[in-house]
Amino acid sequence: MEFLPLFHNIKNKRCVVIGAGSIALRKIRPLMEAGALIDIIAPNIDYRIEELATNQLIKIYKKTYENNDLKNSYLVISATNDEKINIQVSSYAKSLNIPVNVVDQPELCTVIFPSIVDRSPMLLAISSGGAAPVLVRMLRTKLESIIPSAYGRLAELARKFRPLVKEKITNPNSRKAFWEDIFTGEVAELVYTDKNSAAEAKLQQKIEDDTPKILGEVYLVGGGPGDPDLLTFRALRLMQKADIVLYDRLISKEVLNLVRRDAELVFVGKTVGEHPVTQENINKKLVDYAQAGNRVLRLKGGDPFIFGRGGEEIEHLGEYNIPFQVVPGITAASGCASYAGIPLTHRDHAQSVRFIAGHQKNNFLDLNWKELTALNQTLVFYMGLNGLEIICEKLILFGMDPKTPAALVEKGTTRNQETYVADLQTLPKIVRAGGAKAPTLIIVGSVVLLHNKLSWFKSKKKN
Ligand code: SAH
Repeated sequence: MEFLPLFHNIKNKRCVVIGAGSIALRKIRPLMEAGALIDIIAPNIDYRIEELATNQLIKIYKKTYENNDLKNSYLVISATNDEKINIQVSSYAKSLNIPVNVVDQPELCTVIFPSIVDRSPMLLAISSGGAAPVLVRMLRTKLESIIPSAYGRLAELARKFRPLVKEKITNPNSRKAFWEDIFTGEVAELVYTDKNSAAEAKLQQKIEDDTPKILGEVYLVGGGPGDPDLLTFRALRLMQKADIVLYDRLISKEVLNLVRRDAELVFVGKTVGEHPVTQENINKKLVDYAQAGNRVLRLKGGDPFIFGRGGEEIEHLGEYNIPFQVVPGITAASGCASYAGIPLTHRDHAQSVRFIAGHQKNNFLDLNWKELTALNQTLVFYMGLNGLEIICEKLILFGMDPKTPAALVEKGTTRNQETYVADLQTLPKIVRAGGAKAPTLIIVGSVVLLHNKLSWFKSKKKN
């Protein structure tokens, strides 16, 4: 983050604008709306700015700029087309620690003006830090069109009733739920249709009716294999709703970024050198948080019901009458297969597919190897990186052709995806030489041959 977004109260504060052309005008308007005292300094004044000067907030000084003009100012904006003056203003303001904006020259600025969607008191500020103004404008247009103009009135209504709601509904979670109901239900509809007094009456009535109830719930949600675009709509909706999020190592940063900003994030995965949070402990946390009235999101990599212990985690919730729902996610096998261009079934290659847990217990992989060597099926090994050598050896030992195509997909669907394609005999060597790191998925079967033709996804690394 190059700039920290802050909303500044500049009411009655002295702001200096150097320059008085149309660019300056663009900056003067928002300053006026925010109630600043504006001093404009320029030898020539645009007639539209002259007209504004009837407003008592504005004073015009028809003169060339001198450093002295910045004394006692709270914010400085340089909007001249004179490069030398812009640089001089910028460096002098910086030396006085006065925030300075030089229009369209981010390198001379300590503060920048965002693009604004105004639903006062609700304000959305967008900025690319000067990197892509056109993109910012496009985003703003999009937001303008999807945010109802009545949002401002809705926020005003909330402001008016906030103290009362705080006093009457003391539990913070119940209060959050109360406001969500207001903003999505009847009251909001009344505001949208301009029935403001009916909206106020309804809101008042809801405050009186609202007996404090604490009802937590748990959402067991599949976060997919990594690419945030692969989340389901429901996953995203619940991620935006949750109060607390329990997540583990497989959840990508990009996916986690989509969780509601003020949700509490609890990491329950394994990190190197630390003891993992035990499964019992996770199960208990889910119950405890939900019983305290929270909406708890248990966010799991891939699909929660595929090698995710999702079932175990929610088994106990019923005993405590905690409501829950399960949201499927794209499992690593589907994600990696698609992004590596390896269909898991294909009429000419495989009529069935097996998902197999490939992790070893005490250096031992207890699988029915004979069954796995059957023809016309695709094998997908999860958690198989450590046991890769054993997996390939055993399959050969139990009768599979050593030349059977095999692939390992590392960090599938992410920008760092890498696909190693070889056969049972050579895959381990190639993978170790490449230094592949978890998470990885192993795919065995002649469908792997299709990778050459069907590979489409270009990650940062070459495939
Ligand atoms: N519930 C998850 C699987 C959890 S087990 C799912 O449905 O995908 C963890 C294993 O999943 C990892 O060891 C790895 O084999 C696989 N995995 C998860 N994400 C992956 C990814 N992005 N790329 C490759 N393998 C992945």
